Amino acid sequence: MTGIQNCIVFEPPFVVTHIMRGKNVVVLTGAGVSAESGVKTFRDNDGLWENHRIEDVATPQAWQADPKLVWKFYQARRRQMNEVEPNSAHVAIAKLESELDNFTLVTQNVDDLHERGGSSLVIHMHGRLQTLRCEKTEQTEHRMADDDLNDDYAYCNCCVNAHRMRPDIVWFGEMPMEMEEIYESVESCDFFIVVGSSGHVYPAAGMVNVAKSVGAHTILVNYEMPINGSDFDEIHLGKAGEILPKLVEDWLMR
Ligand SMILES: [Zn+2]
Repeated sequence: MTGIQNCIVFEPPFVVTHIMRGKNVVVLTGAGVSAESGVKTFRDNDGLWENHRIEDVATPQAWQADPKLVWKFYQARRRQMNEVEPNSAHVAIAKLESELDNFTLVTQNVDDLHERGGSSLVIHMHGRLQTLRCEKTEQTEHRMADDDLNDDYAYCNCCVNAHRMRPDIVWFGEMPMEMEEIYESVESCDFFIVVGSSGHVYPAAGMVNVAKSVGAHTILVNYEMPINGSDFDEIHLGKAGEILPKLVEDWLMR
């Protein structure tokens, strides 16, 4: 156990005693949790996807200018969902939900690995790969049949003249989803736990500060040390799938 700035860093083996039963707990997960299940980012060694920066493919402007290209990128990501499985971090988070009365799970991930890992209430602030959104009515549909996963556009079932659907994803420059509900939970939480995210990129960074401002105990479980660890009271370094199950067991004791 070593002190870095104002936080305490734990490296396994460790014992941390918190009583989370009866408390308000918010968990925020990021890309690290999905990465441990083998979810790929589709970035080559040069950080590009087919010579495009991801930031240039994942925007409303790109969808307007070259929808075929954007569609192809997301269809590849959607197809990948059939090849990955939830890991023990997903399962541990689902266990926390099942044992606590006041629990909120917020994820930056667009896959459905939390749901498949047993979580029943997941707030997907950056949207979901499994659903598509009608461009006209904005209604979403779960569309993961084989026919929905090829490189042809998908068309909605909500309009009389079926309309083209877009990925149900929050693109760069768009507002994250359900922020009001998320901040409401964070403002009343006793424990704010970030898993698989540096916690220092907006809007996660804003959330940890809100949690701190209401006196919550803030915990980070992440593969590497963030640039500024002092936003967290407690940091556990390592793979979430390896260390979270034991932590959850400790948090649910008694
Ligand atoms: Zn429609």
